[in-house]
Amino acid sequence: MSDIPSDYAGARVIPSPNHGERKGGRRPDIILLHYTGMPDAHGALEWLRNPVSEVSSHYFVYEDGRVIQMVPEARRAWHAGAGFWKGDSDINSASIGIEIVNPGHPGGLPPFPDVQINSVIKLCQDIAKRWAIPPERVLGHSDIAPRRKIDPGENFPWGLLAENGVGHYVRPTPLGGGRFFQKGEAGPPVEAIQSMLALYGYGVPVSGEFCERTEGVVEAFQRHFRPEKVDGVADASTIDTLHRLLKALPAIG
Ligand SMILES: [Zn+2]
Repeated sequence: MSDIPSDYAGARVIPSPNHGERKGGRRPDIILLHYTGMPDAHGALEWLRNPVSEVSSHYFVYEDGRVIQMVPEARRAWHAGAGFWKGDSDINSASIGIEIVNPGHPGGLPPFPDVQINSVIKLCQDIAKRWAIPPERVLGHSDIAPRRKIDPGENFPWGLLAENGVGHYVRPTPLGGGRFFQKGEAGPPVEAIQSMLALYGYGVPVSGEFCERTEGVVEAFQRHFRPEKVDGVADASTIDTLHRLLKALPAIG
C-alpha cells in the first residue's frame, strides 16, 4: 500500500519524499512538461525518489504509457528549479510537473512513442480540468528556464497535444527570407520583439538590446513554437509565429 492517494485515476502511486508546501498556499495553475534526459527509465524514477537528489515531479510517464504519481498535486514537487513565467519566479509552487521518459538531447532525441504521448495528453486533460488550468499555461521546462534547460526538446509534439486541447499553439509560419534580428543588434524592433516575448510570459528584458539572455529566450520560444530551426535568431518566421500566438491568446480582463 502507498501512503498517498492518487489524484489521477490512471496513475499508480510510487511516492517520493522530495516535496514541500506550496508557498503562500498557491494553487497550481501551470502544467510543466519535462523529459527525463537519462539513459533509462528505472534510473530516472529512482533519482526522483532519492532524498539525496532533492528533485521530484508529480508524475512520471513511461514510454509504454504507464503513469506513476510520486507527489500529491496539492504539494510542491521539486522539478522546475530557478525560472520565470508571467511574473512568477517560484515555478514549483505554481505548477504540476510531469516527467516524460526520454533520453533527450544526450540520447540523440529519439521520438516520443504515440502511446506515451496519448497518456500525457489524457493526464494533462485531467489535471487541466480539475485545476482549471488554461491551455496557454501548459509549458515546457525550457520555456521557464531558457538555456539552463532545453527539455522536453524540439521533437516534443506540441502540435499534437494542442489538437487534443492541451497547450496553446499555432501552426508555425514557414521559414523564409526577410529581415531578421540577432545577438549584438539594438533598436526599436528588438525592443518590440522583447515586448512580445515578455507579454507572452517569457523572462526577457525589454531593453532594446539583443543580449545573450534575449538570444536564449528566442531559442526557447523556437524550441516550443517554431522547432524547425532553433538558433536564437529572430527571423521573420519566428516573429510572425510569435505575433499570431499572441493574437490567439484569450483577451485579458
Ligand atoms: Zn526538466
